Amino acid sequence: MKGVVFLGDRQAEVREFEDVGPGPGEVRIRLRSSGMCGSDLHSYRQPAAERSNVDIRPGHEPCGEVAELGAGVTEVSLGDRVMIHHYKGCGHCRYCREGYNQLCQNPGPENLYYGGSAHGGHGETMVCPARLCVPLPDELTFDEGAMLACGSSTAWLALEKMAVSGRDTVAIFGQGPVGLAGTMLAVAMGARVIAVDLSDARLAMATKAGAAEVVNPANGDVTERIRALTNGEGADASLEAAGAQATRKAAATSVRVFGRTALVGERGEVTWEATPDIIHRHLTIYGSWTVSIPGMAETARFVVDKKVPLQSMVTGRVAIDDAPAAYERFDKQDTGKMVIAWD
Ligand SMILES: [Zn+2]
Ligand SMILES: [Zn+2]
Repeated sequence: MKGVVFLGDRQAEVREFEDVGPGPGEVRIRLRSSGMCGSDLHSYRQPAAERSNVDIRPGHEPCGEVAELGAGVTEVSLGDRVMIHHYKGCGHCRYCREGYNQLCQNPGPENLYYGGSAHGGHGETMVCPARLCVPLPDELTFDEGAMLACGSSTAWLALEKMAVSGRDTVAIFGQGPVGLAGTMLAVAMGARVIAVDLSDARLAMATKAGAAEVVNPANGDVTERIRALTNGEGADASLEAAGAQATRKAAATSVRVFGRTALVGERGEVTWEATPDIIHRHLTIYGSWTVSIPGMAETARFVVDKKVPLQSMVTGRVAIDDAPAAYERFDKQDTGKMVIAWD
């Protein structure tokens, strides 16, 4: 079977892999769509000398059909359309029981990350425990399922923590796949969205996705611009999906007194001035990391019921042979969602 690997230094390669069957409790998934996520770019860009797991297929947004059942599997049936929660976890600690396998309290070989430390979705098939499969509603495409397996559900959980509603103006920093999904979901929750990005192409997508206003920080101070759009007060809430120091700072300073902000963009640092930025403004700051297994199902249900047009985010669907070229394109960070697809 064919699969993709990241060699480091922005090089991806398609290789032939041995097709391994499922063990007890596991299933083999025939991939139909595998999302390219912004966080994949960290390993894609890693210097080759520092790159570990070079032989592991990336892809932590897998979506496909159950193609083979291991011994004892009762959770799913052959042919089921499923999304995969990409953290294995021990399955029985406090956080695994809540479906937050990414927070598993038992370190060790069980703590696999599909698409990182174990083969993920960037291959024709993948094997994982059946308990990680989340049913994909009939109304949704495999591409939408792939997006819900990480990026879109990440945005949903952060918005849910902030209890975003029709009373809110929400500033969303970064209009890559996570931020753009955040824009669509916040609009579906009834909010007025101010979309922020350095790419005018991405801001145009945000407008199409329902953002009421767009702000490009290249054209002036973003906090001042957002205050100008909110009667001088600031947004009610903000979502930071860019993962940069400057946008984290602005995500806090651009919300009003008693405002709330959620951070999902990973890595790096932030420096806030405790008193003027946070304390004297009564700010609530949330951290949010992907989603739980029940949360993924709940997000999918929301997307169906609210008719969130997730599929319209997809600007690139490529065959696996074209994955290296697709990553070169995705690396420029001015596209919509890109997926490896098997039609
Ligand atoms: Zn991701
Ligand atoms: Zn656990």
